[in-house]
Amino acid sequence: MNRPPLKRFYVKSFGCQMNGYDGERMSELLEAEGMIAAEDAATADLVVLNTCHIREKAAEKVYSEIGRLKRADGTSPMITLAGCVAQAEGAEVLARTKMVDIVVGPQAYHHLPELIHQAASGKVVDIDMPVESKFDKLPARKKVGPTAFLTVQEGCDKFCTYCVVPYTRGAEISRPFSRIINEAHALVDKGAREITLLGQNVNAWSGEDDAGRPQGLEGLIRALDKISGLERIRYMTSHPNDMSEGLIEAHGDIKKLMPFLHLPVQSGSNRILKAMNRAHTTESYLSLLQRLREVRPDIALSGDFIVGFPGETEQDFQETLDLISEVRYAMAFSFAYSPRPGTPAADMDNQIDQGVSKERLQRLQALLNTHQLEFNQQTIGRKTDILIERAGKKLGQMIGKSPWLQSVIIEAPVKIGDMVAVELSEAGPNSIRGRQTESVMA
Ligand code: SAM
Ligand code: SF4
Repeated sequence: MNRPPLKRFYVKSFGCQMNGYDGERMSELLEAEGMIAAEDAATADLVVLNTCHIREKAAEKVYSEIGRLKRADGTSPMITLAGCVAQAEGAEVLARTKMVDIVVGPQAYHHLPELIHQAASGKVVDIDMPVESKFDKLPARKKVGPTAFLTVQEGCDKFCTYCVVPYTRGAEISRPFSRIINEAHALVDKGAREITLLGQNVNAWSGEDDAGRPQGLEGLIRALDKISGLERIRYMTSHPNDMSEGLIEAHGDIKKLMPFLHLPVQSGSNRILKAMNRAHTTESYLSLLQRLREVRPDIALSGDFIVGFPGETEQDFQETLDLISEVRYAMAFSFAYSPRPGTPAADMDNQIDQGVSKERLQRLQALLNTHQLEFNQQTIGRKTDILIERAGKKLGQMIGKSPWLQSVIIEAPVKIGDMVAVELSEAGPNSIRGRQTESVMA
């Protein structure tokens, strides 16, 4: 098909923060090719759907999203399917829909300009996991807000029995120390005051510093701590088995490392944890949290939970509720188990009825919500700083994040990127209200 030259692109990312980061990098790549960002898919010549395959619902959503790209006059933009659905389904995508022109996996998207060129003469699929790092081929960071993501680690070797990540993102790799530090400097030079280090197992990051000394994530964080202008450091997602004592101690003595940790446990039943191949127990998890609270008593804890994993009994589920009640999470993400093709759990013969999973999920979420509100209420009266990220819904409202990752709404003449001293004054389940206590310092 003959198409006019592609001028405007639109990238839409689904799923985790790592997809968000990849989406931004694809945009930068296309801009470096001379294209400009369109306001929406309807006005774009090229649409990139950067997809998520973690649960069936997320993966299926993509196909209805593709259908919606057809325009009233019967035409459609050039469509690229990127991300984990692309990796998992490869050429099958082209059999399922005629609308997609390019299928590109998460490790190959630096080939996008070349693939667009090739797509002029036919459909293309690139789901290679090349040995060269895509990060070395991407242009310098451009679009930077006050808070920025920086991928430091990708892939996973843990093979939890329910999870597609080891298949879609590939083996665990750590980006080199010096590249990360350089990217962090570039982000700060362009205005970032907070950086969140990203990885599927970010705390498994390892590398060598400039002097050739082996370092774990805490070593990387200590090096980032020295960057002037960088005021806040966060990282996610972590696995309990990679939570080293050095990293725990870093929470006690690095001021820029925010008092927040997302440490998924998935279940409170050791029997289910074993079937999930998590390789930790509820006891080992709880003792990690105890150490963390010793070094950083105010740390906000977050987690992920799966309910209705094959074979989960009411007793197993009750143990998950007990664990939640013991930890009292500041926030959490919870999901009904979704069988994913190709994973061992999908072939287990003791699958749980969806109605049962749904009902358990509701009970679990109700409990998590009470704890989230309780955590927010406990912070009322505290004086702290928030980093302003966006305008609120009502005129004059601005929203920033507290050190504990709560969204704090204030009404004050401040702007995006300001670090504002506030007193937290009123708690809701999903946000807090605050009062500015001092004028903004540059
Ligand atoms: N690496 C992280 C870890 O080990 O916790 C999380 C990665 S995964 C992208 C994010 C979350 O999705 C998981 O923690 C898990 O709770 C959930 N998840 C993964 N596979 C799932 C499945 N098949 N069904 C339901 N939830 C799932
Ligand atoms: Fe998936 Fe488990 Fe790896 Fe997390 S640790 S990405 S849940 S396989």
